[in-house]
Formats: sequence, C-alpha cells, structure tokens
Amino acid sequence: MKEVQKFAVSLCINILIINNLILFIMINILIFGPPGSGKGTQSVRLAEKFNLLHLSTGDMLRAEIAAGTELGKKMSAIMSKGELVPDEVVIEMIAVKIDSVKDKAGFLFDGFPRTVAQTIALEKMLNDRGMKIDSMLVLDVDYNELVKRMILRAEQSDRPDDKDPAVVANRIDVYREKTEPIIDFCREKGLYQPVNGVGSIDDIFERLSDLVSKIV
Ligand code: ADP
Repeated sequence: MKEVQKFAVSLCINILIINNLILFIMINILIFGPPGSGKGTQSVRLAEKFNLLHLSTGDMLRAEIAAGTELGKKMSAIMSKGELVPDEVVIEMIAVKIDSVKDKAGFLFDGFPRTVAQTIALEKMLNDRGMKIDSMLVLDVDYNELVKRMILRAEQSDRPDDKDPAVVANRIDVYREKTEPIIDFCREKGLYQPVNGVGSIDDIFERLSDLVSKIV
C-alpha cells in the first residue's frame, strides 16, 4: 500500500483507501474571469504545478480552425464576432477529453463553462463519473485594467478576435451577460472564490496556488 501512496504523492493524485480499496479522487477547478483577466497564463502554470489537465475550450476551438475541419470553419465565423459557439459543441469537446485522461490529479477548466446551461451539463457529466466541481476561482480585474491589457494584447496576439476593439468589447459584454450569472450559481453552492487579478503574474499565481493547495 505504501508504494501506491508514494506513487500517488509523486503525481499529486489524491487517493482514499477504504477496506483496501483504492479510490482515486480527481479534483475539478473552474478558472473564471473576463477576457484579459489572465486565465490562460495562470492556468498553464497551475496545471503544471498541481498536475491538472488544463482544458481550454478556446484553445480546442482554435485547434479545429487551424486544422481546417468543417467544425472549425463553422465556429470561426462565430468566434470572429466575439459571440459564443453553441453549448452542444463545447460540451461534446469537454466530454471527450474527460474520458481520455490518465495520471492526472484532476481538471482545470479554462473558458468553460461559459453559460449556466454549460455549467449544468458539466455538473451532470462529472456526477455521472463520480466527481463534482470543487472550486470556482474568479480573477477580479477592473474594467479599465482589462481594456489596457487588451490593447497591449492586440499588438502581440495573432488571434483575430483580439485585433478588433469592437470584437473585444463584445466579448466583454457577452461575458457579463452570459457568463457572469454562473458566479451566482456557484456562490450558492459555496464554490465561489474571488482572487485579486491585479498585480504581477507571480503574485497572482501565488494567490491562486494558495487556494488550490487547500483543495488538492
Ligand atoms: P478569452 O477568454 O480571451 O475570451 P477564449 O480563448 O476562452 O478567450 O475563447 C475565445 C472564443 O472561443 C470565445 O470568444 C468564444 O467565441 C469561443 N468559446 C470558447 N469557449 C467557449 C465556450 N465554453 N462556449 C462558447 N464559446 C466558447
């Protein structure tokens, strides 16, 4: 049994041993915040530190576009306007990834869910597999700071939806209208954990890491 525990610790995997039965506990964290709040940057670092599988629906959709698939072609038109792609598309993408994971301590969901309907679908998907949402980390960044960051990002980014200020503004509006209601949904379940998203990347990473280390 000791060896199993050592192996689990080395992979940051939580295990529960009941009557010699080994149960692997996967944790599920949502990272939230408007475009420009730094979710992507922080997610990559958190996933590495805590051995989580980083699932970004934005990255998955851009991979479809880059591969020139039929789905990618259809979704590209929606994304270039800053609108959300249909719920079913991203829910299916996430379901496929969840079922393919091995040797991970859990999942870090970045940019998903983005609507209450996606949240309910995610909860069901996790419940069906004996899991749940463990925490929602929300990066708080005020509007003026977001606009500043997005202007800077427009110069460096190769994403067409970052280049057009009208599209960026629409993405922020869509976030407020369709995605922010998830915060209340999660707050009622005691999952909501706000994090100050202003400061250096290292400082913000430390704030997030402190919260994640209490869960894993
Ligand atoms: P950002 O956080 O900078 O807005 P993302 O990479 O998360 O960027 O998403 C880019 C675009 O991909 C979104 O504006 C939207 O069109 C689409 N998208 C990504 N995730 C989802 C999702 N969960 N539901 C619907 N659309 C999504």
